[in-house]
Amino acid sequence: MKVLVIGSGGREHALCWAIAKSPQCDELYCAPGNAGIDQVAVTVSIAVDDLDGIMDFVEDNDVDFVVVGPEGPLVAGLVDRLEAAGVKAFGPSARAAEYEGSKGLTKDLCARYSIPTADYARFAEPDSAKEYIRVKGAPIVVKADGLAAGKGVILCRNKNEAYAAIDHIMTEAAFGEAGAEVVIEEMLVGEEASFFALVDGKTALPMVTAQDHKAAFDGDEGPNTGGMGAYTPAPVITDAMAERIMDEIITPTIRGAAADGRPYKGVLYAGLMITEKGPQLIEYNVRFGDPECQPMMMRLKSDALEMLLACAEGRLEEITLEWHKETALSVVMAAEGYPGAYGKGSEIKGLDAAGRLKDVVVFHAGTAEEDGKVVAAGGRVLNVTALGNSVKAAQKRAYQAVDLIDWPEGFCRRDIGWRAVKG
Ligand code: AMP
Repeated sequence: MKVLVIGSGGREHALCWAIAKSPQCDELYCAPGNAGIDQVAVTVSIAVDDLDGIMDFVEDNDVDFVVVGPEGPLVAGLVDRLEAAGVKAFGPSARAAEYEGSKGLTKDLCARYSIPTADYARFAEPDSAKEYIRVKGAPIVVKADGLAAGKGVILCRNKNEAYAAIDHIMTEAAFGEAGAEVVIEEMLVGEEASFFALVDGKTALPMVTAQDHKAAFDGDEGPNTGGMGAYTPAPVITDAMAERIMDEIITPTIRGAAADGRPYKGVLYAGLMITEKGPQLIEYNVRFGDPECQPMMMRLKSDALEMLLACAEGRLEEITLEWHKETALSVVMAAEGYPGAYGKGSEIKGLDAAGRLKDVVVFHAGTAEEDGKVVAAGGRVLNVTALGNSVKAAQKRAYQAVDLIDWPEGFCRRDIGWRAVKG
């Protein structure tokens, strides 16, 4: 079978690495890919938002199955176009992808189907939003409704911060159209974790749990990023808690989404707060997490291609998923300056030595090849991922590999997994 993966991050490298191992995979392409993906797939230089270019490539090369990594092309309707052309695709339709595209839409779904989540209200106009804040008080959370690259959420300790957040998002339009509407919600207290389920419209198959680290620096200090590391499983989600998440959150979501004319297919990534009252939904993402996907693919024992195909073809009922019992942990190495301005083009050495360590894979994110050298080409550049018998063991091995990588222009957090290690 000919498979095309869409994307260029560590998530897509991990997907390509896992799919390439499948006996069902005859040819693997990735658009646009990166220097690491180039070692396991044929990379083609088509941007993820060039839907016409992707459709042409699929047709010209008789691609059988397309796996969409990032949310952008999902929200733009790539899966709808592929399916209309008779091509199998992994990922939700544009209508179902709107659950990530609009936070308000997800909150309304929660309200209609009694899915536990923070109390909230939606506003399209700044004065009424401020009046709501005046009445509710602080702490309070102000969110741009649309996609804002993970930066549209402002946690406000007092009312003045919340008013300023409304000005920033709505009046100054800091996130453009994404901030035309806001969601204002109660501040939840607890431990955050992620829960992933595969959904084929009818069946929801739980995958694994994970925790990521959004802040740029050790001790969760500094600005928020796309994610500086992750590990799976997340000890805060016990088996009993996972059952509650399926019963109270995932299953009613699947039923509700179908009833609302947005039947869900693909991976459903629930961002959760585990509170004293139980699990509460913070948000849905409609694709694999990046970097969570990287340790997830290392733990997956089952055939990844068969798993993704079964999901796309509505056959999840027929399959079971097997996972390594070990913990997998991924450390993100980013370019100095990220998430602000950063340089490109610096050479990265030592990748082979790091990758030769037992149970270590170095997934590439923002890398490119220049004259036979691997160079940095993005903000988040490498995902050094390791398996171990405990979070501590996986952490130790991942940092051993990090220390073999010679890249003075890069940095990483040194405490990925701290919550679980502290125990
Ligand atoms: P989101 O983009 O909705 O996942 O929000 C980004 C981050 O903001 C989350 O990962 C949480 O750390 C935090 N957050 C969002 N909503 C809330 C909330 N209601 N209470 C506390 N923290 C929140």
